Amino acid sequence: MLIPRRDLDFQLHEVLDCAALADHARHAAQDREVFDGVLDTAYRIAAERFAPFAAACDREEPRIVGGRAWTIPDTRAALAAYNDASFTAATFDFEDGGLQLPVVVAKACTAVFSSANVAFHSYAALTAGAADLLVSCGSPDQRLRFVRPMLAGRFTGTMCLSEPHAGSSLADISCRARPHDDGHYRLTGTKTWISGGDHDLAETIVHLVLAKLPGAPPGVRGISLFAVPRDRVRKDGSVGEPNDVRLAGLNHKMGWRGTTNAVLSFGERDDCRAEIVGEAHRGLEYMFRMMNAARIGVGTNAVALGYAAYGEALAYARERRQGRLPGSKDPGSPPVAILRHGDVRRMLLAQKCWVEGGLALVLYCARLADEELCASDAAERAGIHRFLELLTPIAKSWSSEYCLEANKLAIQVHGGYGYTRDFPVERLYRDNRLNHIHEGAHGIHGLDLLARKVVAEDGAALKDLVARMRGTIDSARRSASLAPFAEALEAAIVDATQTTAGIATALRDDPVLALANATLYLDSLGHVVVAWRWLVQAQVAERAHEAASGSERDFYAGKLSACRYFFRYELPRTGPALRLVRSLDDTALAIPDGGF
Ligand SMILES: Cc1cc2nc3c(=O)[nH]c(=O)nc-3n(C[C@H](O)[C@H](O)[C@H](O)COP(=O)(O)OP(=O)(O)OC[C@H]3O[C@@H](n4cnc5c(N)ncnc54)[C@H](O)[C@@H]3O)c2cc1C
Repeated sequence: MLIPRRDLDFQLHEVLDCAALADHARHAAQDREVFDGVLDTAYRIAAERFAPFAAACDREEPRIVGGRAWTIPDTRAALAAYNDASFTAATFDFEDGGLQLPVVVAKACTAVFSSANVAFHSYAALTAGAADLLVSCGSPDQRLRFVRPMLAGRFTGTMCLSEPHAGSSLADISCRARPHDDGHYRLTGTKTWISGGDHDLAETIVHLVLAKLPGAPPGVRGISLFAVPRDRVRKDGSVGEPNDVRLAGLNHKMGWRGTTNAVLSFGERDDCRAEIVGEAHRGLEYMFRMMNAARIGVGTNAVALGYAAYGEALAYARERRQGRLPGSKDPGSPPVAILRHGDVRRMLLAQKCWVEGGLALVLYCARLADEELCASDAAERAGIHRFLELLTPIAKSWSSEYCLEANKLAIQVHGGYGYTRDFPVERLYRDNRLNHIHEGAHGIHGLDLLARKVVAEDGAALKDLVARMRGTIDSARRSASLAPFAEALEAAIVDATQTTAGIATALRDDPVLALANATLYLDSLGHVVVAWRWLVQAQVAERAHEAASGSERDFYAGKLSACRYFFRYELPRTGPALRLVRSLDDTALAIPDGGF
């Protein structure tokens, strides 16, 4: 089930006022009509081309035949339709062959495509991410020979970071590149887990590979970035002979099975030509550009998968009849729809508040990315960038954690049927389980947030967040029905900031102890941020509710109920969790290894 258009319209126009982006030169001549048209096209292609084979590409994983990975036949027409409509190029500048659309509109489209078929959409999303990295860090020649064909759909792209022994710890990678007298580098080594690492969907694949040069400094400072096409790309842009990149195998996954996941062996014949991207030793810094955008993409995928499952659960709960309400004395009375049962309603409301809260957060982040692009001066741009960097691990990890919970409850609402392959909720659950792991595992983001993002520059980004949240609190206090939520948010902010200050001090004395509960901190700060986004949604809904009628009135009432649920059932969870973080609880560290 596709993510509902009504909520996307609510977020884009009523909450985030995307039409105002037209005030900036970058989006001049783009208005709501343009954005609506783009979304109409996304829904059409998602429904007609992506959704119909989502189950088939889950059943029939890509196979290796003749050293190449082959996908099922429907994939090529789907990717062609996507590229014909220029979705890969959506946010790129006109001069690079893009449509220069706002990131927030493109992310809304991502939610549509990923709710239809997340695995297949990955090929295109990775290509856009790799092309964006080359635009910002590559040479003019690389832009011409690689980016143009990627945006046109002739080439796809990947990100090659992970190695069999080095996933979270990229400092330990062993891929090597050495300069060659033909002007290229020769790259050797093995990468694993490479999404879209091989397939039959494009003329070639541009791998962006992290590797170390001879004499490079140790650790992450010694990593450089290379563009390594699977097949050589000539000066005129045509594709030539293979480039000594061997598909050594495919990983067989729990979900997301429509995307190939490859083990790639580079330079077995010592003839793998690589082109350095940007300056030597700055590879990880460059790669972070792709990863940060990808992480908001991962959050969006998590939301889309949770939302799709919530839609399935809601439809099922309206249809499925089972039992009678407590107190009903007549066994001959007809069974009620399970939607009538209090516990089912609670499960549905929990799903709603997580997925709609997550959607509000990821689209807010995308809107910030637009503000960064449109900023009038460097200082403004740097401030927005810093703030977005703080929110990025939350958008990725909170959404992956709680939208997966939504998938779990969607199965529960289906009862035993949810545990079969006859309903899509089990596939959606398996697909969403990945988001917790890739683009930095959940625990790594907790460390990144607590050890770096909230304490860097004397906590400047966190102060910015608090100021923005307090702006909402001030206005929400003027509404009798929202004022209690405003007070609850204020109390949670005080709790979170005091915890952060305590940890900042503890970090200097005993970092292992200070960070032992970093994941709890991430989950809690995530809850505070999502509570804020719910309060913003509720303010909009409250204003619109009065004048609305029929299904529109229900829509706004639903927003107000979900906000109330989040503040009553979810936000209070942060109190005990933050207490554990603040008190430097060492239970998990204290247990002896042999005691597990
Ligand atoms: C389906 C799929 C697609 C992927 N696609 C790509 C891709 O396209 N390109 C790519 O380069 N990679 C890709 N990856 C790899 C992915 O990014 C890694 O799996 C991830 O970074 C974790 O690395 P790892 O699997 O080696 O786990 P490890 O790093 O071994 O981690 C195992 C566990 O230990 C924890 N841990 C590790 N170190 C620490 C620490 N210092 N402190 C606290 N906890 C720690 C982790 O949080 C995790 O829970 C993909 C993975 C999967 C499963």
